[in-house]
Amino acid sequence: MKVPFMDLSGSFNEIYDEIIESIKTNVQNTNFIGGSEVNNFEIEYASYCNVKHAISCGNGTDALILALKALDIKDNDIVITVPNTFIATTEAITAVGAKIRFVEIDKNSFTMDPQSLENYLENSNDVGKIKAIIPVHLYGQMANMEEISRIAKKYNLRIIEDSAQAHGAKYKGKGPGHYGDIATYSFYPGKNLGAFGDGGAVVTNSDQLANRINMLSNHGRIKKYEHLIEGYNSRLDTIQASILRIKLTHLDSWTNLKKLKVKRYRELLSGIENIKLPIETKSFDHVYHLFVVQVENRDRVLEALKNVGISAGIHYPLPLHLQPAYKRLGYKKGDFPITENIATKALSLPLWPEITEEQINYVCQNLIRIVKEIN
Ligand SMILES: *Cc1c(COP(=O)(O)O)cnc(C)c1O
Repeated sequence: MKVPFMDLSGSFNEIYDEIIESIKTNVQNTNFIGGSEVNNFEIEYASYCNVKHAISCGNGTDALILALKALDIKDNDIVITVPNTFIATTEAITAVGAKIRFVEIDKNSFTMDPQSLENYLENSNDVGKIKAIIPVHLYGQMANMEEISRIAKKYNLRIIEDSAQAHGAKYKGKGPGHYGDIATYSFYPGKNLGAFGDGGAVVTNSDQLANRINMLSNHGRIKKYEHLIEGYNSRLDTIQASILRIKLTHLDSWTNLKKLKVKRYRELLSGIENIKLPIETKSFDHVYHLFVVQVENRDRVLEALKNVGISAGIHYPLPLHLQPAYKRLGYKKGDFPITENIATKALSLPLWPEITEEQINYVCQNLIRIVKEIN
């Protein structure tokens, strides 16, 4: 049996005709940039996120850059985030000229540890230069936003929530964009809501920020030939918007399916020695972009799984503070032990809404056997 890490074709089959029809209509009418598909998607996505405004853009990395720009984060400002994330989070900080600082993650949730954030701020000589925090809602679970926003208020910092992996996730009933000034999304095909190419969005409850992000994403303009500021070209294609509008109506049912599959994984893997399951907590509504377990000798387990046709993933094998690209930041091994520990143990198991009972059984049987043999 072969089990891929993710199979995007399942969700596509269900809506194939509807999507092809919509692409055809947009092509026939030469609707390629902007227009009602984009406007309607923004309205529908804002409503889905329960925020006032959604502004679509080219991808999730641009969404972060637009958010930082809208908050006027620039040269010599400092932005705090976590080392256990995809590099896009920190690339965006550098792209606006600001400096990256890391704080440690929580050992149970893998998201920003508020205590570590507060300790850093209490002991930093840079307090005046620190302008914003980017918590990352990793694997589909939001960070502890109550604590993070309390600390942000205390130090007068802005919050951008990197929600690229957390479409529909909630913390105490509130989604991304509620606690933070801005939340950003990616619609990369493999994300919980994925386009047929790149796409992204920025959401906010602030009219003023929404207006600025709107302008920034489209050459600094509101009217066609009047550029109030210099901006960028970062737009969501009309065809992608039309695909996302259709997919959005299925997102909750796909997420629920993923949750059921995770429940099955948990049943089969609970109580197994040397396989640590992610902890579920009541306050968090986890949407399981990824189902990440922890195992010893992870790389050997991954290889052995591959040998029996199972593709698992690693998110992320080398933390950002140890990446060659960030040598200049001066961090070293041992600076973030929790992050470094998880980087050696994290194993993302195959998961998508239509993964079958047979496939889950096959993954679990093999994983249990391999972990026993190796450890
Ligand atoms: C995917 C991802 C991004 C970047 O999104 P793109 O659309 O690929 O640019 C940013 N942050 C995190 C945490 C991600 O997983």
